[in-house]
This record gives sequence, C-alpha cells and structure tokens, in this order.
Amino acid sequence: MTKVSLDWSSLGFGYMPISKRYVATYKDGKWGPGALTDDPTVPLNECAGILQYCQQVFEGLKAYKTKDGRTVTFRPDQNAKRMVDSAKRIEMPPVPEAMFMEAVDEVVRANKDWIPPFESGGALYLRPYLFATGSVIGVKPADEYQFRLFGTPVGNYFKNGVKPITICVSDFDRAAPRGTGHIKAGLNYAMSLHAYMTAHAKGFDENMYLDPATRTYVEETGGANFLFVTKDGTLVTPKSDSILPSITRRSLITIAEDMLGMKVEHRPVAFSEVADFAEAGLCGTAAVICPVGRVVDHGKVIDIKSGMDEMGPVLTKLYKTLRGIQMGEIEGPKGWIHEVK
Ligand SMILES: *Cc1c(COP(=O)(O)O)cnc(C)c1O
Repeated sequence: MTKVSLDWSSLGFGYMPISKRYVATYKDGKWGPGALTDDPTVPLNECAGILQYCQQVFEGLKAYKTKDGRTVTFRPDQNAKRMVDSAKRIEMPPVPEAMFMEAVDEVVRANKDWIPPFESGGALYLRPYLFATGSVIGVKPADEYQFRLFGTPVGNYFKNGVKPITICVSDFDRAAPRGTGHIKAGLNYAMSLHAYMTAHAKGFDENMYLDPATRTYVEETGGANFLFVTKDGTLVTPKSDSILPSITRRSLITIAEDMLGMKVEHRPVAFSEVADFAEAGLCGTAAVICPVGRVVDHGKVIDIKSGMDEMGPVLTKLYKTLRGIQMGEIEGPKGWIHEVK
C-alpha cells in the first residue's frame, strides 16, 4: 500500500473516501458474510425502505494511534450493543455484535495509512450504519438490509484551542416522550436540522433541548449529552428516557466515580438549576468534552461561572483522563481499549 500523504494538521471534520469499506447484506431472513470493497457508492432501488420510510440507524467511533505506536479503538463493543438496540426500535435485523467488531477491525486494518499520527491529535472516524435496501411502498419494514462501515480521517477537534461555546434554548423538540430519542437513528437528525440552522442563524453554536412534555428539564443537544459540575465539585448528568445514551458520558461517569473519587449524580436536571452550576459542557465521540460558557434562554443570558475563556477545572480533569486512556498514556478500566493488530 502506498503511504498516504495528507496535511494532518489542517484536517477538519469532513468526509473523504478512503481505500476500503465493509459491506454485508441481509436477505432471505439472514446476514450474509461481510467483505471489504473499494466502491464508496451504494446502488439502491428507487423504492428502497431507506428512501421511502427512513429505516436507518448508525454509530460513530474513532480509531487512534497511541503514543507507543499501537492502533486502538475505544469501547467498540458498546457501539455494537447500542446499534442492536437502535435497530430493534426501527424494526431492522440487528447486526450481530461479532460482525460489527469484525467490520471495525477490518476497516481499520485495511486503511491503516489513513489513521492520523498520534502527534496530530486526529483520528480515523468510523461510521457504521444499517439501512433498508428492500423495496417497500405499503408501510412496513423492508425485508432486505445493508450494513456498511467506512472510515474518514478527521483532525484534532480543538486544533484552534479549547473555546467555550454559546448555546440557546430551542423552541423545537429533539425527541418525543416515548419516541426514538434514545436510539441513534438518522431520522432524529433529519428533524433537528431546522432547529440547528435556526440557532446558527441567530449566532449560537448549538441548541439546548428541553424535555418535550413539560419543557422544564434539560435533555441534550442535537448530537451530544450535557455534563454539569456543581460548586462543590459533583458531576451531574441529565437523565431522561429520550436522551441518547452517550458512551462518552457513561465512560466519564465511571472515570469520575472509580478513578477520580468524585461524587456523581445521574438524575433529571431542571433548567432552573443551570444558572447555579460552576461548569457546563457537552460530551460525545467528536470532541470528548466541549465546554459551554453561556446559555441563552430567549434573551435571558446565563453565564456559566467557569467563563468564556477556558474549560473549567473539573471538566478539564475528566477530559484529560479520558483522552489519556484513549491515547494509551493512562491505564483505564479493563476492556476499554481495543487494539487492532
Ligand atoms: C452519538 C450521540 C451522542 C454522543 O454519543 P457518544 O457515544 O458519546 O459519541 C449524544 N447525543 C446524540 C443525540 C447522539 O446521536
């Protein structure tokens, strides 16, 4: 394989087709064997279930180079399990966990020259996804599906420094009570795009969605969970059935409790509490933690105490610990780092 030459330091978060991707098809009630392919295009029938009734779920994770030169992924088994849960809710045949894990390893191995070097702070972003290829016109689940997994190199999320963002309370809801907010489905994103563009047009970086039933509790943003820190250093994360169970958030909770000896509360968080928190942030695979400096609720400005200059001290400690584990510099809980040989 020819060595890839990219300007790793200027990479952002975008798509570029790279050497190989994984494809497996579901047909006649069972999964066929998966394989790597060079073809980045997906031929589809005009009546495919994904095109008509939006049967699609996905995942997102990263492969990294560690300081000592190993290639690793972070808790891919958790992505595999979450995609099983997502698929079931949309009446799709779940991708067997072993096939998901094989797809991750094979794509990482086949594209090893596309993984940004350790020093760049970048990663190979991996996108597993499952969608209906079978034709449906009467409303029902399709009978044929495809599972694909591609990678694309992405840069250091904080290459211009860690700057707290400003978010606004959205007038739109992200997910319905008892709906699909807890699964990773493209349809949740389709309906969040208008809210996202509306927030951007008003100069905000992101939306804070409230619980759709009462609009008094904090849910999450379009693609990241909230983290809050109280004045006495307790980590607080919102709990609701319509929040996506972020693997980053769950990992940070474990780190806070088991490694840093912090107090953690995972519970409903009233919007009225936000003004009292000392620190606020968003968490997800893309940034790990992105600090929030200001929340604006229809003209009412709430300045988070840690300010607009930097990430607060507690979130910084959590961020450094999780990044240290991912980069192989800190020993994490057993099974979190999956080496691809
Ligand atoms: C993917 C996602 C997250 C973050 O989850 P991670 O597993 O931490 O990457 C949070 N919220 C939503 C809505 C998501 O789709």
